[in-house]
Amino acid sequence: MPRSAHNTAPPDHAEVVIIGGGVMGASIAFHLVEAGITDVVLVERDELASGSSGKPIGGVRAQFSDPLNIELGARSLTAYADFPHRPGHDIGLSQVGYLFLLTTNDQVTAFEDSIAVQRRIGVPARLIDADEARGLCPLIATDGILAAAFSPDDGHARPTRVIDGYTSAAVGQGATIVTGTAVTGMDIRGERVTQVHTSGGTISCAAVICAGGAWSAALGEMAGVHLPVRPVRRQVGITAPLRPAPPTIPFTIDTGSTGYFHNADDDTLLIGLADPREEPGFDTTWTSDWLTPFRAVMSDRAPALAEVVVTSGWAGLYEITPDHNALIGRADSPENFLYATGFSGHGFLQAPAVGEVVRDLYMDRVPVVDVGPLDAGRFAAGRTGRPERHVV
Ligand SMILES: Cc1cc2nc3c(=O)[nH]c(=O)nc-3n(C[C@H](O)[C@H](O)[C@H](O)COP(=O)(O)OP(=O)(O)OC[C@H]3O[C@@H](n4cnc5c(N)ncnc54)[C@H](O)[C@@H]3O)c2cc1C
Repeated sequence: MPRSAHNTAPPDHAEVVIIGGGVMGASIAFHLVEAGITDVVLVERDELASGSSGKPIGGVRAQFSDPLNIELGARSLTAYADFPHRPGHDIGLSQVGYLFLLTTNDQVTAFEDSIAVQRRIGVPARLIDADEARGLCPLIATDGILAAAFSPDDGHARPTRVIDGYTSAAVGQGATIVTGTAVTGMDIRGERVTQVHTSGGTISCAAVICAGGAWSAALGEMAGVHLPVRPVRRQVGITAPLRPAPPTIPFTIDTGSTGYFHNADDDTLLIGLADPREEPGFDTTWTSDWLTPFRAVMSDRAPALAEVVVTSGWAGLYEITPDHNALIGRADSPENFLYATGFSGHGFLQAPAVGEVVRDLYMDRVPVVDVGPLDAGRFAAGRTGRPERHVV
């Protein structure tokens, strides 16, 4: 468990109650405290990083189709690169790039369009040919690859270290972290949440921020706020050490199937695939079912991985919204209920920027990124229209 976790009873009062001790709650706590809002309590029912953020290694990227996602990803990449200085922690960042392998004309067209938008925003992505892609990732076979999209600033880092860094700094400046304590209800008076009930006691507060990941729909219901987030299991595996040892490669994705792989510790690879057969649900049992489609895809795309030995793995939950874009904002009612959830598999890479944005929303400042389109009310109001295309 990160060293800043405290298994204490919650205080009777806090200015801000943050629900959820994942990367999002940690980032929000850090950014609030850094801005002088120090009377903050973060409530986590289990341990810090026990939810979706517990993934051993998380990808970070700015290669998206939606300009807002590109901006949140790029801003977060800058913050992650600066993490050793602010807040001051080694997060194991490897900026090895993301390499999307493209095997259909439709994919190439979609990525050409997205790269044009990314480059306007300052992201150094480019379309490359199959031979250049193989130069970057010698494990791939070029047959069937029409082109690839590569951005060198992308990469991967360690989510639990990020949580440790943010929470250590927040606690050091006055925040309280309460673990092993579940939020069970909220009292609403007029247009405001006045109290948060927990398994360890009641906290009166000036504001509540929901960073409850895949469990956010139930937390929203406690405040009468509709947060359309569905849990869907996703699984990853760690291979046995490869011989010969793998070179340093980008985070490499077969776009059509979502099968992916990148370096992990000690000559191993982390591998994964979003299994389309997975039904929504909270089960996080790790199975090997998804390895069958993974191996089938890799027999064409990266033959050395088709038979690779997998020694361990991890299962967690994607927190999916209807358009695969996040829910970030302040409720109309109760007006002191804010939320940052529904990241649909991209929460780790957006966490630094979202922490800044939520700080600004709480402080009634103009947010560093305009997240107006991510308001949770957009579905009821029929305002969806830009589903993210580059979802893994
Ligand atoms: C296999 C897999 C691979 C992924 N890969 C990537 C990747 O490469 N890059 C990327 O950006 N993202 C990735 N993601 C997604 C990313 O992990 C999530 O988007 C991110 O961790 C969400 O963070 P969070 O803080 O919002 O939620 P969580 O980390 O789930 O935190 C929410 C917390 O709220 C707590 N909670 C819930 N209910 C209550 C309650 N009633 N009271 C108190 N506490 C409560 C939970 O215990 C949990 O700890 C991946 C996810 C999975 C499953």
